[in-house]
Amino acid sequence: MASTAKFWREQAARYNLEGTRCLNCGSFFFPPRALCPKCRRSGEVVPYQFKGTGEVVTYTIVHQAPGNRSRQIPYTLAIIRLDEGPQLLSEVICEPEQIHVGMRVRAVFRRLGEEGEEGIIYYGTKFVPADAASPSASATPTSQT
Ligand SMILES: [Zn+2]
Repeated sequence: MASTAKFWREQAARYNLEGTRCLNCGSFFFPPRALCPKCRRSGEVVPYQFKGTGEVVTYTIVHQAPGNRSRQIPYTLAIIRLDEGPQLLSEVICEPEQIHVGMRVRAVFRRLGEEGEEGIIYYGTKFVPADAASPSASATPTSQT
């Protein structure tokens, strides 16, 4: 589990789900890495924009949000494994009883919260259930041929 400090340090990259990938072995890195641990200097690491789809590996329901009374509780924090491979900690916006291990999710851009009187607003990537994404894609044609 990532520490809280690490979580916030990685917010910049998390903002747009920007990572990197190694052209030599095809590994994906999120948070982005400048050096492929497998290939070392023979690897060529380039920026990569993740698709934002993946599935829930594990999750926890958070019932308290200290110091932030505007926070909606409970909320759900999950480890998401992106389809490209890397895992990250993020909030999943859904009913607490809805989430389960293996649930398909997709990234959305949401406000993370406000801080103090300055009204600094943090934005970042959160996830929603993937089947909440496409209302028309699953529609079954009623006409028969
Ligand atoms: Zn590599």
